[in-house]
Amino acid sequence: MSSALGSQLPNPAHLDADSMLARRFGKETVNYFGGSPLNRLSFLRSDHTFLSAAVKHPSTRFVLFQDLAPLITPARRLYLAKHAEVEALVPATAFDKSEEEAIRDYDSGVTRPDLIFLGVDEHAAPDAPEEPLLEWKTYRGRPFFALDVSERGDETQRTGAAELVKTLEAQGVTPWLSRHHTDFSPDEAAIFAQGRALLDWNRRNTFCGTCGHPTLAVNGGTKRACPPTDAALAAQSKSPERPPCSTRTTLSNLSFPRTDPTIIVATLSADGQRVLLGRGPRFPPHWYSTLAGFVEPGESVEDAVRREVWEEAGVGLGRVVIHSSQPWPYPANLMIGAIAQVADPALERISLEHDPELEDARWFPVEEVRRALVTGASALGEKPGPDYVEGSLRLPPPTAIAHQLIKAAVSGAYTSEKGKI
Ligand SMILES: [Zn+2]
Repeated sequence: MSSALGSQLPNPAHLDADSMLARRFGKETVNYFGGSPLNRLSFLRSDHTFLSAAVKHPSTRFVLFQDLAPLITPARRLYLAKHAEVEALVPATAFDKSEEEAIRDYDSGVTRPDLIFLGVDEHAAPDAPEEPLLEWKTYRGRPFFALDVSERGDETQRTGAAELVKTLEAQGVTPWLSRHHTDFSPDEAAIFAQGRALLDWNRRNTFCGTCGHPTLAVNGGTKRACPPTDAALAAQSKSPERPPCSTRTTLSNLSFPRTDPTIIVATLSADGQRVLLGRGPRFPPHWYSTLAGFVEPGESVEDAVRREVWEEAGVGLGRVVIHSSQPWPYPANLMIGAIAQVADPALERISLEHDPELEDARWFPVEEVRRALVTGASALGEKPGPDYVEGSLRLPPPTAIAHQLIKAAVSGAYTSEKGKI
């Protein structure tokens, strides 16, 4: 996963090419879990001949998850399995049927582990001469899949998963059990985020949200179909026909993965000299962060920002500017980061009496926040650096979009006339 630009697509993780927009607004902020090195080639997910070639290709790698925990090497890198290692779970014939054929032949009694086509790394170099990169039409690179190795499904699947995990454990490859996974390299983190979010979605949707019958993963694991027949019913001497279901005839958001938009905002005072931060009751002492909340149905991002800041802190906002975004795969959030400013000092008065979500909210002077970004930033549960002075402000780490928003808010770029947006 080198950062060199390939011929197909600029690597999104390293988008620093000059343009008029870049000169006006500055370099794009690529947040942790975003900026994937993979070209998702989403239009090829419906091409089973492509998936069939990719799944057994010698250059292909599988990112493994056990109960949504990624399997990692002793050096805490994502373990990347080859097809030969996972063949008991992923036969070479896994994608031999088209989507129509797979739906027609559906049998809920036979299960396969969730397998997601993540995309192709077009910047990869071959690991060995006998493992050339996959070439497909004009695309060339290393395909990536995510594979669920949890002990689930029918007996064949459970046995295959258990044996694979046992073999890998003997090599020191183990699941990384953690609430959050922020020690990966940026490239690994983006691949992990895509795999985790999609496996989680598949897992929550094994039954149709409309008719309640079992569903089948299709489209490289990014769609779940509600088949009209089930061979398992015929095996019980019943009619294989299932009841009618509207997901078969209309475009249904039940069939496709969800992404839940969430706003997160660094708020500046009317004079631009202070930043509004809040703390939840479970935060460590002296730890504050930006305010955040879910976007509601029928609400714009800007309205959601104004609503959340007023509900949680009683502060009235003027202009809201979208800064950057961050996928957050726990389970399916997209954090939309904004910088906002109070237009009238009379609306700066903090009140926690509306929504009691925060334990405290305060205006911090810009200078204090700048210092805390350097000395007081750390991951939750970890200690700040050696320059931290006990009792001073603590902030989220650089892998959190909150950190990037706070940094942007105190940079002056948003409040100086020169950098005015
Ligand atoms: Zn259904």
